[in-house]
Amino acid sequence: MHSQFIKNLLLLKDVLVDNVCHFENHCEVHISLPIRPHICPRCGCITKKVHDYRKQKIKDIPVLNKPLCLVYRKRRYKCEKCRKNFYENVDFVGRYQRMTLRLIETIIERLRSNYSMRSIAKDYGLSPCTITRIFDCLSYKLTKLPEVFSIDEFKGTTDKGKYHCVLVDPTKSSVLDVLDSRSLEFLLSYFRKFPDPDKVKYVVIDMWAPYKLAVQQAFPRAQIIIDRFHYVRNCNWAIDKVRKRIQQNLPYEKAKFLKHSKKLLLSRPHNLDHDGKIRLANVLLIHEDIRLAYILKEKFMDFVNSSSSSEAEVKLSQWLELVKQYKIREFSYLARTILNWKQEILNSFDVPYTNGCIEGFNNKIKVIKRNAFGFRNFSRFRTRILHCCS
Ligand SMILES: [Zn+2]
Repeated sequence: MHSQFIKNLLLLKDVLVDNVCHFENHCEVHISLPIRPHICPRCGCITKKVHDYRKQKIKDIPVLNKPLCLVYRKRRYKCEKCRKNFYENVDFVGRYQRMTLRLIETIIERLRSNYSMRSIAKDYGLSPCTITRIFDCLSYKLTKLPEVFSIDEFKGTTDKGKYHCVLVDPTKSSVLDVLDSRSLEFLLSYFRKFPDPDKVKYVVIDMWAPYKLAVQQAFPRAQIIIDRFHYVRNCNWAIDKVRKRIQQNLPYEKAKFLKHSKKLLLSRPHNLDHDGKIRLANVLLIHEDIRLAYILKEKFMDFVNSSSSSEAEVKLSQWLELVKQYKIREFSYLARTILNWKQEILNSFDVPYTNGCIEGFNNKIKVIKRNAFGFRNFSRFRTRILHCCS
């Protein structure tokens, strides 16, 4: 009866539970298989004669929060005709394996989370080397690019370059691949490996010139789209630079007031409450450049919220005119960048694709990096990201 319950708990078919021992750091279940007629692998005769037993320790998935070890009393039969000794048939573990198949599957699943290999090793009563060995059996290779994909980068700490690229499918919110480098030569040789380059329709990028050149050369039919997040961010940087410039030459109290108004200057006025609006009015009185920069930022945001590329084009040219008039150097610089990428920016108004989900992946990558104390081996780092985010 007792043994039947444990069998159900272990979900092992046809196994006899001989004993259960609890230790401080693990739990042992002693098991064996019933005696059954076996066919001799050498001569084909049937035998039930037991030759001897060997103990095999097999790690299994934890029970009651403790690592579990199956102590399997493995039987050898003896053929009475040809005298051959052979092991009984068993299906829950491979011949030389020291782990159950289901434990390996559980660990592979667990590796999809951000937990470090060390902490997974601890939870399952295994060594970090064992976890690494299981992990190293995983491999990811992208063989086909979808119609739409986006490229972004993140800072790496591995043996390869300073920046890594991440390719994402924005329609499925999944990571497609992680690349060592974001240089033009590297991207070109990578992209050229894929069949059917004409099937790529849209590529979402940030304003990094090698992305544009690589996409233009590798996928001549694709439309390049600048992610909205990036040009909004450039505008936020511009107004913040104006604030910092003005702040430097102000008396202490006023400088402090302006310093604390960073968020206020970045928010849209319709999102401010009554107090916020009064505060904003006071901030704009501090300096003429702040006031003009604020108008430019607001006009830029109106352009960003256009509902089509044709509306956006009109609003953009009005904004560019205003930048010329106001002569705020931070915005003149922004205008040059926007002009350089004008078509790609305008393209973004006619499609729903953004790099929005990449932000989420970047946070996940940061956690993976931190938990692994900075992956130094790029290939492992890449596999872990793909295993967690694809
Ligand atoms: Zn035999």
